[in-house]
Amino acid sequence: MARRRSTKRPYGEPHPELDVDALRGGLGARRETGPRGEEYFVAVPRPNDKVYICPGCGQEIDGETPHLVAWPTGSIFGDEAAAAARRHWHTNCWNSFGRTRG
Ligand SMILES: [Zn+2]
Repeated sequence: MARRRSTKRPYGEPHPELDVDALRGGLGARRETGPRGEEYFVAVPRPNDKVYICPGCGQEIDGETPHLVAWPTGSIFGDEAAAAARRHWHTNCWNSFGRTRG
């Protein structure tokens, strides 16, 4: 049996911030139609202590607020650009932004 890998990162190792495959697979990304009718990958990020600005309401998202991350599936600049363009949304804002009826 292989030893379980420690979840600790060696000091100084860069965080794999833009790992597209990890974003898609590791986080269980799904495809959804986004605010402007474009198709997005949507995933639930692991909690952390970063603060993001939600594009839906312009408010901060702290690490304890339910939120998701979305990025366009079809960037003409490729997967890395698409991943770099990903945005964190309050779950409620994503669900309602651009889709409110009436
Ligand atoms: Zn919001």
